[in-house]
Amino acid sequence: MDLTIHQNCPSCGAGIELHEADRLIRCPYCEVQNFMITSGVFRFTLPDKAPAHIDRRSMFYAPYLRFKGNVYYCKGKFQKFKVVDTTQQGMDTAILPPSLGLRPQAMPISLVSSDIKGVFLRQTIKAQVLLERAALLTVIDSENIEAPFYHRAYIGETLSCIYLPLYVADGVLYDAVTNKVMASGGSSERMMAQGVRYRETWTPRFLATLCPHCGDALSGEHDSLVLLCHNCHSSWEERRGSFSSIDWEKVSSIDSNVYYLPFWKLQVRSPENGLESFGDLLRVTNQPRVVMAKHTEMELEIWVPAFTLRPSTFLRLGKTVTLSQERIPPGDSVMVGRMHPVTLQRKEAVQAIKSFVAAVALNKRKLLPLLPEMYFHPVATTLSYLPFADQGHDFVQEQTGISVAKSVLRFGRKL
Ligand SMILES: [Zn+2]
Ligand SMILES: [Zn+2]
Repeated sequence: MDLTIHQNCPSCGAGIELHEADRLIRCPYCEVQNFMITSGVFRFTLPDKAPAHIDRRSMFYAPYLRFKGNVYYCKGKFQKFKVVDTTQQGMDTAILPPSLGLRPQAMPISLVSSDIKGVFLRQTIKAQVLLERAALLTVIDSENIEAPFYHRAYIGETLSCIYLPLYVADGVLYDAVTNKVMASGGSSERMMAQGVRYRETWTPRFLATLCPHCGDALSGEHDSLVLLCHNCHSSWEERRGSFSSIDWEKVSSIDSNVYYLPFWKLQVRSPENGLESFGDLLRVTNQPRVVMAKHTEMELEIWVPAFTLRPSTFLRLGKTVTLSQERIPPGDSVMVGRMHPVTLQRKEAVQAIKSFVAAVALNKRKLLPLLPEMYFHPVATTLSYLPFADQGHDFVQEQTGISVAKSVLRFGRKL
């Protein structure tokens, strides 16, 4: 479920409301647009509703880790997935509730800022442990399959930290959101000593959204991870704190009313597994097609949707385009309107490679056990926009015929 975040505009200071996936912040008051980035995880706090007389400098903030994403896994001859959305304690203590439950979704949260004068309790449970717990859910989910796990990937995930505000009054520890008693008789000095004060690096930074190449304004939607320059026809992703240009293409259409959906076209090789061309992919995954010389001359490309979708549609779309890539003509680099925002990062797409090889395979019993030893060497990555014809409720891809419902696309942006 999506979170609502209260934040001040970095340009004029006005209070604005964001959603968890928002990166391109367009202020409705001053109309300035900024791109929000962070060097670590995003840190939020639940609203402080402690009584006014409580000294804010003596308040505590207990960390909770939030994981939201999809775990794709292969077990025996099956490929499955599990949608995970969980917020769990980030420190080992019996005093605090093990999870925040639905609270973060039920109230607006704020990004941690220098306005918070209290003490942040240290996160002692590593994010890795949370991922392992998410992995455990796949074990429970698939306990009727007796064969071993061959692969597990976390795709489209967000990991963030949400702090629960607390305060001590007359030796009693209170939850500062509900003002309910949590424990009594504890020492606040000891808690104080275990915490740290706010750090500058916790607050997101904002990048001005000007094209580094021509200086024109970059465009995108609120949840876009890739920004576009319609002036010099370039596209940009954030890398190590600044905008970095990415290779992109668009497959043109004669139909003027098409909608373009982005895919990460990952050109890879795995010579150790005899996977060096498209022909090899057809052969190794046992496709009922005659592998011809032209297939062996084609590069091996895995096409991963560059936008968030529910897992079944994500796999179906990427699988169909990957298997039909010979029908897709070369693209050009001319921007058009109606381009769907990129909401899945390139590195997430790379993590999805094995899941797509598994999805494509017809001989799953034979291929899935090979996945742990498979390694794909990256050759090139291109962001490729494919034309989809607007057919009322659905968008239908021009070259491959695959369709995706408009409602599914809208729903995918809320995941
Ligand atoms: Zn503003
Ligand atoms: Zn430009």
